[in-house]
Amino acid sequence: MQRDPNCVFCKIVAGELPSRKVYEDDLVVAFHDINPQAPVHILIIPKAHVASVNEVEEEHRAALGGLFLAARKVAEALNVAQSGYRLVVNTGRDAGQDVFHLHMHLLGGRRLGPMLHR
Ligand code: 5GP
Ligand code: ZN
Repeated sequence: MQRDPNCVFCKIVAGELPSRKVYEDDLVVAFHDINPQAPVHILIIPKAHVASVNEVEEEHRAALGGLFLAARKVAEALNVAQSGYRLVVNTGRDAGQDVFHLHMHLLGGRRLGPMLHR
């Protein structure tokens, strides 16, 4: 499994930093965002270190599909599947990406604004 020793999310995957996990399988893990922007704010990440969408390769195909599958399961488990939710993947400076381990935000539990971001 690809890993970056300085990456916060790799440390969460390895259990070296605490997180409130809501879902895990062999390819992905999902946990509560530390600074939630909505009543439901979950981060879904591949276990393998991929810095951003800019570094996505063919070998990541299964894990990337796994992000969406996990999103569906998390949305159902946290009761926003019917009310609705937004999936956001920030990439690079202009999008405000802060953590360079690819992650999908799942936001829900309130009426989200018209902006694509949060
Ligand atoms: P970005 O702006 O890179 O798309 O979002 C990074 C997200 O990661 C932010 O929403 C931030 O609150 C969250 N985050 C940063 N560090 C940690 C951490 O150590 N634990 C958790 N659970 N979330 C984090
Ligand atoms: Zn990482």
